[in-house]
Amino acid sequence: MIQSGQRLVMKFGGTSMGSAERMRVAAQICADAPCPRVVVVSAMSKVTDLLLATLRAAEEGDRQAVAQNIATLAKRHEDVCRELLPADRQPPILAAIATLIYEFERISGGIMMLAERPPRAVDEALAIGERLSATLMAACLEANGIPAVAVNARQVVVTDSIFGNASPLMDLTRERAAKVIHPLLDAGLLPVVTGFNGATHDGKPTTLGRGGSDFSASILASALDATELWIWTDVDGIMSADPRLVPDAAVLDIVTYREAAELAYN
Ligand code: ASP
Ligand code: MG
Repeated sequence: MIQSGQRLVMKFGGTSMGSAERMRVAAQICADAPCPRVVVVSAMSKVTDLLLATLRAAEEGDRQAVAQNIATLAKRHEDVCRELLPADRQPPILAAIATLIYEFERISGGIMMLAERPPRAVDEALAIGERLSATLMAACLEANGIPAVAVNARQVVVTDSIFGNASPLMDLTRERAAKVIHPLLDAGLLPVVTGFNGATHDGKPTTLGRGGSDFSASILASALDATELWIWTDVDGIMSADPRLVPDAAVLDIVTYREAAELAYN
């Protein structure tokens, strides 16, 4: 287990962030884990798909779909906030949610006007899903007596400029992690970092490709010299098939790297 001077990175995916109930479970897992720890989160389940669909609708000029999707997005996060937090803690978080939703609305509006989706604008817009979940998760931890702060990975993970499928520049990321994450840990705060996104060295927002938040967690674990990386998920291990598609899929007791790669590929 983690000794003093060691460091743990924990990643929670979309299902683990999928509702107030699931966020509470994740916060309890964090509370039980050894310090110091850094948390990496995905957007709430299906949110990235919703954001993408909205940007496509904006490109096509479908004003009504854009408005409807944005209302759905806002309601999902506001509802979780109300269910998750005591009344006195809700107003600043609801305000933060509104600010992020407004940011998304502004980018969608720009795409609608241009009738095209510049990759850089798409990456900036998609990261809002993780910024919303990180805001809620940090607030949930705080409400449970764990001082926490949401961190936009744009401040930490430095990447090349392949928008939509960027690769990390590890030396620069290591420097940023030392500058941004270490002081938070030293102050006794738990950083809740957005998975999936980063920025070029000159600050242009990027994303690491769909499903990229596991990658984010590995990048941060390496940049922070973490002793361990825990990727929490909704199954007990690597399974013989996707249990949503194959009802009798089973957890594999032993799996080789080659088999794991084959399963991932398929
Ligand atoms: N939210 C992003 C996606 O759905 C990244 C992730 O969840 O890993 O692709
Ligand atoms: Mg995933």
